[in-house]
Amino acid sequence: MSEESTDLDSSLRENRVFPPPPEFAAKAHVKSLEQYEAMYRHSVDHPEEFWAEAAHELEWFTPWTRVMDGEGAHAKWFVGGKLNLSHNCVDRHALGDRKDKVALLWEGEPGEVRKLTFGELHEQVQRFANVLKSLGIRRGDRVAIYMGMAPELAIALLACARIGAVHSVIFGGFAAHAISDRVNDSGCVAIITQDTSYRRGSEVQLKAIVDEALEKCSTVKHVVVFRRSGSAVKMQPGRDLWWHEEMEKASAECAAEWMDSEDPLYLLYTSGTTGKPKGLLHTTGGYAVQTCLTSKYIFDLRDDDVYWCTADIGWVTGHSYVVYGPLQNGATVMMYEGAPNWPECDRFWKIIDDHKVTVFYTAPTAIRAFTKWGNEWVKKHSLDSLRLLGTVGEPINPESWMWYHRMIGKERCPIVDTYWQTETGAIMIAPVPGAVATKPGSATRPFFGIIPEVVTKEGKPVPDGHGGLLVVRKPWPSMARTIYGDQARYEVAYWSEVPGSYFTGDGARRDADGYFWLMGRVDDVINVSGHRLGTMEVESALVAHPKVAEAAAVGRPHEMKGQAIAVFVTLEGGHEPSEELRQELRQWVAKEIGALARPDDLTFTQALPKTRSGKIMRRLLRELATTGEVKGDTTTLEDFTVIAKLREGDE
Ligand code: ATP
Ligand code: MG
Repeated sequence: MSEESTDLDSSLRENRVFPPPPEFAAKAHVKSLEQYEAMYRHSVDHPEEFWAEAAHELEWFTPWTRVMDGEGAHAKWFVGGKLNLSHNCVDRHALGDRKDKVALLWEGEPGEVRKLTFGELHEQVQRFANVLKSLGIRRGDRVAIYMGMAPELAIALLACARIGAVHSVIFGGFAAHAISDRVNDSGCVAIITQDTSYRRGSEVQLKAIVDEALEKCSTVKHVVVFRRSGSAVKMQPGRDLWWHEEMEKASAECAAEWMDSEDPLYLLYTSGTTGKPKGLLHTTGGYAVQTCLTSKYIFDLRDDDVYWCTADIGWVTGHSYVVYGPLQNGATVMMYEGAPNWPECDRFWKIIDDHKVTVFYTAPTAIRAFTKWGNEWVKKHSLDSLRLLGTVGEPINPESWMWYHRMIGKERCPIVDTYWQTETGAIMIAPVPGAVATKPGSATRPFFGIIPEVVTKEGKPVPDGHGGLLVVRKPWPSMARTIYGDQARYEVAYWSEVPGSYFTGDGARRDADGYFWLMGRVDDVINVSGHRLGTMEVESALVAHPKVAEAAAVGRPHEMKGQAIAVFVTLEGGHEPSEELRQELRQWVAKEIGALARPDDLTFTQALPKTRSGKIMRRLLRELATTGEVKGDTTTLEDFTVIAKLREGDE
């Protein structure tokens, strides 16, 4: 950050407002802006009362003695309370009136469908918990999970939670060294995997990759292998066991451990968008309460919903909004194993129609891919069952938002743009859909109990309309408690940058209506002649051009201006790069946001470097634009060939 100015200049102008559709609001949990505002005020004026009430929706074995305790990095929630999250996700419903309700509704990439009721899930989770116990795994032990999107993946998480083992899910697309790094960082004693998984018609050799990773891991004693495809794999005697064989031997009853509210639940590494991934540790009580409450209000869950969050369980979104949040609410959760464009580009829309999905939650990167593939794929399906849409992961460009609103939501479904992080555990800023009007590109207003603010580096509030650093003023229940094994780094990274607050690392501005607009990572801010631009503004201007599918903007050093703007652009299907188009796009940005934002360099590319979770890795582009090389951490890069292609240039 420059010393003179920590403010971001903001030139993004987006005036469209979409009030909640009256039919939606009439049936919603929160039905009006007045109701949202009253609840919000209560939640921040009386946080202990508010969160205690929320926690009463869960079953506790022993009640807490204090709702919250401690400040900042040292905050604790529901102190003294004992509960089990697996019990709250499964037993509560299986033993109540949802025994025969479908909990997991799964479709494999080749097309098979499986349905597990809460009753069946209850049995499976208990059996697998007993399998883990039979291997000597006990509360506090770390267990790595490296699987594809199968129901067994959710079962593995819930079984760990049931016995108090700390799961560490490693995204099933990572290479062997990413597994060994993560396993060694926390000393995992076992790893749960599967033979192979399906992705875009081919098989990913998960078990073979685990074998390679384990050559560098001394702590792992057991490997449990779920048989998904039946493809041949090597089993190492004494170490490797088949899931189905162990399940058959295991008893179907396993009492849930009474976990302390502050006992660890899981650890999970961030996506690595801004650097080396950090292993965040989440605990039990506060995480349970906030994931449950946000799922209820932001996805407005009702008993007849078929809820589909397309995130892989390998990311925090999958933890909080495929597994723990919706299942605590007793929702029917759709899970899909494979790629969105397999066998064709309309797979998601087909799934929505086939399974009558009502709530659909995906990422801006996916939405930009859908627009690039073309509207004809969407038009083949009715999408009538949908009532609510969501996005997460990156700021959504207003033009992508409008496409989502029109093409998928048919102008009938509210869109919840949910801002949060691995570190926050649960959604922090998002519209409560029956109450808060939406604006394309804005995550809108804070969730109950959350106090975000836009400030300078010194922690002073920035006036509305101006950009600054996004911080959170008070601790919240689902926040990560530490970076595993490195409390000092946790305190430095999040709790010391801006005095007295949690620092998100993101830039934002708040408008006169109290809406938050995320502007990109603070580290990515571009400073042109003293004007500070969020990457989001330049990128959104480019994406608004009819020929542009995706764009990434970065700064590179410039003698006169401090920084020059370099942009990387992918085009919509059917358009070709040309010098003429390059000039047209530079001019377009100048017209949309001002001459100052006119890109100095514009590179056409087939693809942008992204994390495995689909986020643009601007730090790699910045390196490339500055030095012509990439040396930074690329462990979570989605496609290693992208960098080489970019280096070759666009001509
Ligand atoms: P790393 O921390 O390793 O760099 P990461 O920040 O991408 O990786 P995540 O925790 O998966 O890892 O992502 C959180 C970040 O994603 C946020 O800090 C923010 O930059 C971005 N983000 C998520 N949702 C939104 C949203 N709705 N609007 C804007 N930005 C979002
Ligand atoms: Mg981050």
